[in-house]
Amino acid sequence: MLKTDVVIIGSGIGALSVAGELCRHNKKVTIVTKALRKSSNSSLAQGGISVVLSDEDKCEYHYEDTMIAGCYHNDSDAVMALVTKAPEIIKKFIDTGMDFDKDSNGNLLFGREGAHRLSRIIHAGGDRTGLKVVEQLLRNINENVTVNENEMVLDLRISGSKCNGIITRDKDNNIKYYEADYTVLATGGIGQLYPATSNDTTITGDGLAMAYRAGCRLENLEFIQFHPTMLTINGKTLGLVSEAVRGSGGILVNEKGEHIMEGVHPQKDLAPRDVVAREVYSHYLAGEKIYLDISTVENFREHFPTVTEICESNGVDLGKKLIPVGPGVHFHMGGVKAGVDGTTDIESLYAVGEVACTGVHGANRLASNSLLEGIVFGELTAEKILASDLHSQPMTDTFSDITLGDLPTKAEIQSKMMEFVGIVRHESAIDEIINWFKKYMPANNNFGKIDILHTPNDKLEIYNMLTVGYLIAIAAKNRKESLGAHYIEK
Ligand SMILES: Cc1cc2nc3c(=O)[nH]c(=O)nc-3n(C[C@H](O)[C@H](O)[C@H](O)COP(=O)(O)OP(=O)(O)OC[C@H]3O[C@@H](n4cnc5c(N)ncnc54)[C@H](O)[C@@H]3O)c2cc1C
Repeated sequence: MLKTDVVIIGSGIGALSVAGELCRHNKKVTIVTKALRKSSNSSLAQGGISVVLSDEDKCEYHYEDTMIAGCYHNDSDAVMALVTKAPEIIKKFIDTGMDFDKDSNGNLLFGREGAHRLSRIIHAGGDRTGLKVVEQLLRNINENVTVNENEMVLDLRISGSKCNGIITRDKDNNIKYYEADYTVLATGGIGQLYPATSNDTTITGDGLAMAYRAGCRLENLEFIQFHPTMLTINGKTLGLVSEAVRGSGGILVNEKGEHIMEGVHPQKDLAPRDVVAREVYSHYLAGEKIYLDISTVENFREHFPTVTEICESNGVDLGKKLIPVGPGVHFHMGGVKAGVDGTTDIESLYAVGEVACTGVHGANRLASNSLLEGIVFGELTAEKILASDLHSQPMTDTFSDITLGDLPTKAEIQSKMMEFVGIVRHESAIDEIINWFKKYMPANNNFGKIDILHTPNDKLEIYNMLTVGYLIAIAAKNRKESLGAHYIEK
């Protein structure tokens, strides 16, 4: 049994923000992460962090933009907490040495992204914001934090309605038991449930599946954001082309060079993501190719080094000023129901970042609000833990003896998800995917506990994907009307 004050699952911005604050207060923290410490969506983030730091901006504006993008399905208190606490927490982060891009006078540069009424996105290294932020957060943790890489968390250790830690399998196939006073889920989203995604390969919805098995409430699962501009060549998704490219003047065109967002939405290419993604998708379904025309974007290579690298390594000639794009899954608005301080239905279990659903994003996330969420709610979660006095209880783990039969491949799950609970959904067809999932549900188990000790990691990952896919399909079936990223074609 490995004892620690706090065990954190994952090593993205949510995890590292919690760990950074706790370790300064001498809490012993263990981070367990599935691959390397920088393997996360956080490291891949390009555009930046939205925050009210410019003179012409106001928290009310950021609040309203977030609510409008979220179709007012947001939890208004969570949005208010995010936008009002953000300036102070981001300034504090800058004081730790975080170097956001500045102009020649040393003032922060503010980028523009979709559905923001003005430029409020701070960024670092051009479009390398996520990596720079993660590197700074890693510098901010001290010797109180141990990071265990290449170790997959299999399940939470639950006794009654309390979480006492986690069970993992390390890279040498050893099963490890952690006992912790506090457990923090920071496993990110669900991108790998779909065939086209911007997400890291480790992002398979494990945290949601574990929380579900533990009896946590999950919310808003049907709201999945597709990004309209993934680099797409011959139907293959090869990386993200940040929305900041459109914020800098890029426009979406068809093969004839016609501007496809003209007349679709008043904000044209910078309309909310669901609107732009659906428009790109409708052209794709009609067999048309769509390009991002970057001819008016100044200093493209300098401002977008990551996008430049992704394009050039995949043979795109940027001299032609046209990047072939298509939509892909980017962000999950739903998740484990949590407060802005990370609290969940289960005592001692906290959820932070994309795996959590505080309601802050409503039915559609405003661009660049999620790195912010990780930092701000990460800090509030750490504060909550520091102010609490919970203790783990020694417990005897009991395991189900249910083993898994034949499972589908990841590619089969991905293709079903895209077909039935993708960008456009048809109510009458959703039962088909629910029944398909049920074929793989062990008898009388409702995607609950299985014999995790004898289920290899790759099979458990697929079981987690089936669990989350099934829950998303049920949530999509239950929401009868279109709202934000959940779009039903009647
Ligand atoms: C390409 C890309 C660009 C983006 N750009 C922006 C942007 O500009 N601005 C913005 O605000 N947002 C952006 N986003 C979204 C944002 O990056 C994410 O929402 C955010 O980083 C999520 O942080 P997180 O800490 O919750 O999860 P992640 O950063 O995804 O980290 C999750 C961690 O959990 C680990 N993990 C998962 N399952 C297990 C398991 N079973 N056991 C152990 N470890 C596990 C993963 O390996 C990973 O380390 C972008 C996302 C992508 C993919």
